[in-house]
Amino acid sequence: MRLQSGASFGGDTLAICAGPCSVESAEQIEATAKAVSAAGANVLRGGAFKPRTSPYAFQGLGVRGLELLRTSADRYGLGVVTEVLDPRDVAIVARYADMLQIGARNMQNFSLLREAGESGKPVLLKRGLAATVDEWLMAAEYLLVAGNDNVVLCERGVRSFDPATRNLLDLSVVPLLAELTHLPVIVDPSHGTGVARLVEPMALAAVAAGADGLLVEVHPDPASAVSDGAQSLTPDAFTAMTRALAAVASAVGRRLPAASLAA
Ligand code: PEP
Ligand code: MN
Repeated sequence: MRLQSGASFGGDTLAICAGPCSVESAEQIEATAKAVSAAGANVLRGGAFKPRTSPYAFQGLGVRGLELLRTSADRYGLGVVTEVLDPRDVAIVARYADMLQIGARNMQNFSLLREAGESGKPVLLKRGLAATVDEWLMAAEYLLVAGNDNVVLCERGVRSFDPATRNLLDLSVVPLLAELTHLPVIVDPSHGTGVARLVEPMALAAVAAGADGLLVEVHPDPASAVSDGAQSLTPDAFTAMTRALAAVASAVGRRLPAASLAA
């Protein structure tokens, strides 16, 4: 599956989606887009509509955030993946994004799935907080029956008994889903662990397990991030991660987007 920007999910080349949890300002998204593209990412992520546990927490910049994402992504030749929370916002998000993200909290929001399915845009479907593989695949089926074949699954960890990590990142689903479905599968080690130090090792493990790509939170100054700073990589840490990833990717017959551009 290929985005209009050229990024592919499911081929020899990995999809590397990177960016902040939330789009905060023009300066923040611009600095992030520049850094992640230089490090070899091919898709810019960032939330403009944010699903926050508390209604008093920052809810995102909305349409202004979409505009900022699109502008910076275009400057660096990146695709855009961003979350849509509400069926009423599918059309506006689809106008700016190359790929609609349906978040963990909305995996079984069936009216949102139907609307996203009918939009014709590729959809990134994150695993629900406590969703079984069967439930996840049935949620994907809502997109497929709406006529949308461009569906990518994203493992982002599930709730567990152990608060040592934010979620329990289930990498066993990567080879399991390869048996069960033709849909590409990417891994989000940022929400999967909640701890920036754990992101690189789990990203390497995800690619070793056969993941078709990664979704990684990167912020120019994680300490000042309005959301998810503790799990966000600095641009330098992200660059180090992509360098380390190149060797693992080639060991499993994959390559990074930057390497395929050079080839
Ligand atoms: C996100 O990717 O910004 C996000 C909110 O993730 P999740 O839906 O996996 O919690
Ligand atoms: Mn986040």
